[in-house]
Amino acid sequence: MKILQVSAELFPLLKTGGLADVAGALPAALQSEGCDVRVLLPGFTPLLDGLHKPACLSDLVTPWGDTVHLLYGDLGALGVKAYVIDAPGLYARPGNPYEDAHRHPYGDNHRRFALLGWVASLLAHGLDPHWRPQIVHSHDWHAGLACAYLALSRDRRMPRVGSVYTVHNLAYQGLFSAHHLAELGLPPVAMSLHGLEYHGQMSFMKAGLYYSDRITTVSPTYAKEIQTPEQGCGLDGLLRERGSVLSGILNGVDEAVWNPAVDKLIQSRYEAGKMAGKAQCRSALQNAFGLEAQSTRPVFGVVSRLTEQKGLHLVLAALDSLVAQGGQLVLLGSGEAWMEQAFRAYAENHPESVAVNVGYDESLAHRIFAASDVTLVPSRFEPCGLTQMYGFKYGSLPLAHRVGGLADTVVDCTLEDMATKQANGFIFDDFSQNGFERAMRRAFALYARRKDWADVVSHAMRLSMGWQRSASAYVALYRQLIA
Ligand code: ADP
Repeated sequence: MKILQVSAELFPLLKTGGLADVAGALPAALQSEGCDVRVLLPGFTPLLDGLHKPACLSDLVTPWGDTVHLLYGDLGALGVKAYVIDAPGLYARPGNPYEDAHRHPYGDNHRRFALLGWVASLLAHGLDPHWRPQIVHSHDWHAGLACAYLALSRDRRMPRVGSVYTVHNLAYQGLFSAHHLAELGLPPVAMSLHGLEYHGQMSFMKAGLYYSDRITTVSPTYAKEIQTPEQGCGLDGLLRERGSVLSGILNGVDEAVWNPAVDKLIQSRYEAGKMAGKAQCRSALQNAFGLEAQSTRPVFGVVSRLTEQKGLHLVLAALDSLVAQGGQLVLLGSGEAWMEQAFRAYAENHPESVAVNVGYDESLAHRIFAASDVTLVPSRFEPCGLTQMYGFKYGSLPLAHRVGGLADTVVDCTLEDMATKQANGFIFDDFSQNGFERAMRRAFALYARRKDWADVVSHAMRLSMGWQRSASAYVALYRQLIA
């Protein structure tokens, strides 16, 4: 099966969040399921730089009249063949791929990401004479227009190419003024309720949801949640209508990257049953950040975007209680300025208990999972969530809100679930300060029962979270489509 994966990010070359982790791991997992996978990426500088032995496949004139080049090569260590759109006027900008230095979305984002979808549909129509996909699988709003271009330009004389659209986060929709429609080469008919129109604007997310053959999202619970008005971000009606082609496939963990037994980014390696290295990781981190060197009370870790979605205001408001109970917090994140500032200010006043790192740091993220006992993920909503799964792998039990993919992966440490070895963390139902702090107290209480704690950690670390299970679910979906 020939599959074209279309995404705006790809780990390890370019990452702003979980989308990159998925885009980086899924191709190899699909290849080991027997698929012939290629990826299509926009030519952001790190992605272009990661392309080995690039050759120009084609010069293309975009619907708005620019000339761009489609390069073809391979992504070296990833072992995946890739097409990268070389369009420096659109993509060669330093920093975040979506926003300028003032965190404002770029004014030409409609062109930057329409181009990605447009090229995907050209590949589906045979642009590369040596390789034509049977399925175009696009990810998030950045690639949503691929489904529209494909559906609106079907050539009945050619074999039908199926489209799969995966929603990684429905909250980010890619909305643009309707007057851009013609310059993107889309017909007026697209700008309707039965198309990509969303309250008078063009929605790239809706394009993916409306025009794709199959919709997936990144956990079974989120697949249900987005069909409700509370979590549907205004698209729940369409999602209910398309419910028969919508399913949830849980993300996996790239166990070559997130594995404390082989991780070179952490102080010492360790694994379930051989945990001495974890204690060394903890001491190293406490030392590096000037935290009190203690081993009798839990260290809580946060690695997250600092946004409203992630529920970290609950952590902020619980810091007095966390510190009063003897806990420590190490946070790595960036996002909303007020939250960065509030965490920083707290750390300045409690340097022995709280360390805050504002920024993005892949290596420090690994060190935090390895050093901490509890990974905090109190998200208001969470499509899948990867950090709770990294927490399992590193023996840092997740403390999470029962929502989306967190509900599908975290099992609370109740007595009955500990007795049956199902428990792997702490989960709260009521998204409130009280709900969060009660779960935090459960974490402190269990931490004091060393044998029970060690049993749950050992069980969590042995959970099988690899990509193969997800990859075979995607393959089953592709097969249905091709049939
Ligand atoms: P989302 O995609 O909503 O941000 P996920 O839990 O799905 O949330 O994925 C987040 C990914 O980004 C994880 O790999 C996490 O380790 C990483 N991450 C988040 N913030 C940072 C940061 N400040 N520094 C390094 N990695 C981060």
